[in-house]
Amino acid sequence: MKRFMSGIMIATSIILLTACQSAKSEYVKISDQFFAMDTYITYTIYAPETEVESMQALMVEANALFESIDDLANRFEEVAGVNNIATVNKKAGKEPVVVDEKVIEMVELAKQTEEQSQGAFSVVLGPVSDVWRSYQEGERTGVPSQDELEQLRPLLDSDQLIVDTAENTLYLTQPDMILDLGAIAKGYATEYVANWLEAQGVEHAIVNAGGNVKTIGTHPVNETFRIGLQDPDNLSSVFGSVQIGATSVVTSGDYQRYFEYEGQRYHHLIDPQTLQPARLYRSVSVVTPNSTLADVLSTTLFMMPQHEGETFIQQYYPDVAVLWYDLAGNISMNPQMEELFTLGGE
Ligand code: AMP
Ligand code: MG
Repeated sequence: MKRFMSGIMIATSIILLTACQSAKSEYVKISDQFFAMDTYITYTIYAPETEVESMQALMVEANALFESIDDLANRFEEVAGVNNIATVNKKAGKEPVVVDEKVIEMVELAKQTEEQSQGAFSVVLGPVSDVWRSYQEGERTGVPSQDELEQLRPLLDSDQLIVDTAENTLYLTQPDMILDLGAIAKGYATEYVANWLEAQGVEHAIVNAGGNVKTIGTHPVNETFRIGLQDPDNLSSVFGSVQIGATSVVTSGDYQRYFEYEGQRYHHLIDPQTLQPARLYRSVSVVTPNSTLADVLSTTLFMMPQHEGETFIQQYYPDVAVLWYDLAGNISMNPQMEELFTLGGE
């Protein structure tokens, strides 16, 4: 997905409080930034003094891994040497495609979430997303008619996405169906890369993939990390922060990719029921250790009225912390989030 977003591109979460304290410890704070999956991926590692060089090299390797997952999830271009989502989509209505196990893992979680959320999440929303995207990218002007969108509804049936876990194949049975891992791949890549870094001996670090944050271990001095949550109305500042140990913080927001038409904002988070951008919140943030899950859940909860979201979380993911920032700027959260959240910026 090496495509560029329109509008302002900025990490949706901002890291706070990581700089000067580390000078007091025997750790050196090193960081590096790369571009992948439409966003900047920032690695921050607190490296023991003797391991600065080797950990710098690890960041480069980590990013190569991140890019390899980007390649697998890419639905816009095929990539030499692998079957990716673009390959699966090209073979829609024709034949099953053997894919990497990582892709199967992502699709399985996506399908499970779709079932649990009764369709708030949809992994086959590609045809509708593409129509919206064509307006967002200026290929067409105005907004799509509801008729045009409704005509695509038969293609949004994820029962027609056949997952064979024995053969590692995916098969879209109808031509023109489009699988889209946009709501999960960044979280998956972040999770994968962070776990890899940890396995290489990294003990204190943050991976921030455009607001999809995963922390490794503890902050070497403060013990906890503080991660800012971006203010939807002022993207260079934060409305609050969460104080966390080793976990993941992911936000879905209406400011991440959008266009405006006749005073109305049209963003990239599409409600599969209405086929329109969901209009309940500015953002939804989720804290839970697994970044793949956090990514899936932030998108899912963005579609659901809050009481439904609360019930859904209590039923399936009772340990997950959630914060809802609604259209009027009201902030609400579940009890798990209350333990982590502080209102206000620096
Ligand atoms: P995120 O930023 O993680 O919330 O994911 C946004 C991306 O997920 C979009 O760019 C689409 O590719 C995809 N998407 C949009 N709406 C949905 C939805 N209701 N269910 C699943 N994926 C979606
Ligand atoms: Mg997501």
